[in-house]
Amino acid sequence: MAISRRDFVHSALLGAASLSVPGSAKADTAPARGSGKAKLPVIISAANGFKYLDEAYTLLSGGGDTLDAALKVVQGPEDDPNDESVGLGGHPNEEGVVELDACCMHGPTRTAGSVGAVRNIKNASLLANTVRLHTGHVMLVGEGAEKFAVAQGFPRENLLTDKSRKEWLLWKETHSDWWGASLSSPDWRTRLRVHAHTDEWQERMDRMKTIAVAIGIPREEQMDAIRSVIFPPTGTIHCSALNAKGEMSGCTTTSGLAWKIPGRVGDSPIISAGCYTDQDVGSAGATGSGEENIKVAGAHTIIENMRRGMSPLDAGMDTLQRIVHNYNGDKERLQYVDMVYYILKKDGAYAAVSLWEGYGDDTSPHRIAIHDGTKRLETAVSMFRGVSQAWPPLFKS
Ligand code: ASP
Repeated sequence: MAISRRDFVHSALLGAASLSVPGSAKADTAPARGSGKAKLPVIISAANGFKYLDEAYTLLSGGGDTLDAALKVVQGPEDDPNDESVGLGGHPNEEGVVELDACCMHGPTRTAGSVGAVRNIKNASLLANTVRLHTGHVMLVGEGAEKFAVAQGFPRENLLTDKSRKEWLLWKETHSDWWGASLSSPDWRTRLRVHAHTDEWQERMDRMKTIAVAIGIPREEQMDAIRSVIFPPTGTIHCSALNAKGEMSGCTTTSGLAWKIPGRVGDSPIISAGCYTDQDVGSAGATGSGEENIKVAGAHTIIENMRRGMSPLDAGMDTLQRIVHNYNGDKERLQYVDMVYYILKKDGAYAAVSLWEGYGDDTSPHRIAIHDGTKRLETAVSMFRGVSQAWPPLFKS
């Protein structure tokens, strides 16, 4: 039986006696929220863009370009060293190096730019836009992307903060074993390595705490650090903007999955998966399980669904259904898939849809941030009730 992150925190770290079953097994459609019709201009993003919407909305309503407005929003978390999912301070790969992914699409000119696995450049979204504006290419990756950035005047920076470096060190010393079966593999159960409430489990926790102290992780951050090591965090921001003329653009940026294999590229820089904008139809983007989203070309599927007449809500739900289909509806596996789509149609209709209501022990549900003159957060419409669980699973003995 799998143990949720919430159970982990309460039992393993705080020493509670009992473990509960994760509340993720029931399948029902939640009440409709996070979908409606916005006034133009409008800008939507993942919830972590909320505090950056005002400036972008002012730019948009003053006649500014839709992509400039969207980039303004995602640049906020990229610049914030305390946001560990994007840009500066993002969680590093298994070698302790931060690698960023980003892409953008400009509706009016039908152009796109993207960068994957780029190191030492904080604003991957702006670099993706520079690829769009100053090359005949759409996507640059790795060393080539970094060299291009420096040539274009982007500063080379160490993106690892002291906090993320120490968390990585703790992971490196206790968990550096990404190789093996994925959730898609028939052998996925071979990932069951930890048995809670056993001597082995207790020894493992004690060892992690000892190493955390030795590394110098402050006492109040040790629990979070250990949790991040056991359940590699992810996080991303997407933003789409639509102006009063009906022009639209979108962008997505991330540091991807913590402790990933160097060179791992998720869905965020993949035009069609992490973001897609079609000036005739709409703009959509994604956060969540990148590998699952790539397999359904999520953002593009949503746009094509809307082109054929679906509402943003139906277009998103149909795309989630394709992920469900890839696992033949097996919720024992799907509980480890976290997926959220942010969707904006050319007429101002919008929706946020998610596979599950929330993720792990994060108490807030998946939400979309919107500004159409009124700035607000709305809860995503989820396909299943309950929260997704962090991968890899812990199992009760
Ligand atoms: N989609 C991102 C990735 O797979 C992670 C996330 O959104 O949480 O890299």
